[in-house]
Amino acid sequence: MPGWRHVYSGKVRDLYEPDLPALGGVHPLGDVVLVVASDRVSAYDHVLSPGIPDKGVVLTQLSLWWFEQLADIVPNHVVSTEVSAEHGDGLVPDVVAGRAMICRRLDMFPVECVARGYLTGSGLVEYRAGGEVCGVPLPDGLVDGSRLPEPIFTPATKAAVGEHDENVSFEAVAEQIGTEDATRLRDLTLAVYARAEQVARERGVILADTKLEFGVDPTTGETVLGDEVLTPDSSRFWPADQWEPGRAQPSFDKQYVRDWLTSPASGWDRASDTPPPSLPADVVARTRARYLEAYERLTGSPLG
Ligand code: ATP
Ligand code: MG
Repeated sequence: MPGWRHVYSGKVRDLYEPDLPALGGVHPLGDVVLVVASDRVSAYDHVLSPGIPDKGVVLTQLSLWWFEQLADIVPNHVVSTEVSAEHGDGLVPDVVAGRAMICRRLDMFPVECVARGYLTGSGLVEYRAGGEVCGVPLPDGLVDGSRLPEPIFTPATKAAVGEHDENVSFEAVAEQIGTEDATRLRDLTLAVYARAEQVARERGVILADTKLEFGVDPTTGETVLGDEVLTPDSSRFWPADQWEPGRAQPSFDKQYVRDWLTSPASGWDRASDTPPPSLPADVVARTRARYLEAYERLTGSPLG
């Protein structure tokens, strides 16, 4: 990556910092990182192969669209998406055009900030075991896909690669990062969810839940929304006209991947230590179409 040095790779994204000597000692945009979304797809904490063509572009373009919709609620980390073929001027290298953003470098909070308006996934598992999620008590009689009486903040601790994130209570987060920051993250998360849920609903899409990551800008001290936002990887989007509590909902994400992996067709035992098998071409194609459809439904335009 000309002008950038690789510092980190998660399951989906790669992070680079400026190659300062090559730039003459300072990046023209300040203390920044380059966040590149790959086409890698993960499920059940495994990165699968092959990737989903154009997925990284969808994630980045959808995040950029949402950051704009949310700009009056919370500042975000995006500094520039300007592409250059010059290589070495500190802009987005043309080889990752569309899938990369130059962002302010944040000190990330070690918290996955999750808001849920509907009950499913790990929330449903916890609810069935004890009637609450992350310490938030819920009424009796809820089923998979039920709408909650009001959206709730259900944080999780960030896990190392290969480990599961763990749901924790608000109090546990407050203990870890302090009550003031914990309260700010909770309020921001619920405000973002409320806005995004409304925007999605107008487009016939239910935002069941979403995961946000915040950080502090070390130069201004400001709390900033980072990472990706409101993508099918970080959120559950359901077609509203097919919502039917009491079953798993169809969703605009890698549901085809999960369904195939857990079906007899894949021959994979999720409980085993063996890596999952390669995805068949039709699962890849249908998943790609689903990501593109999510982008188009939410933003109102096809991916440019
Ligand atoms: P997982 O595979 O479970 O998502 P991950 O979150 O570590 O693990 P990615 O999401 O692929 O992996 O990588 C993105 C990483 O970049 C995350 O660790 C995220 O916290 C970090 N990050 C996002 N925005 C910024 C930023 N502005 N400054 C510094 N780090 C950031
Ligand atoms: Mg992540």
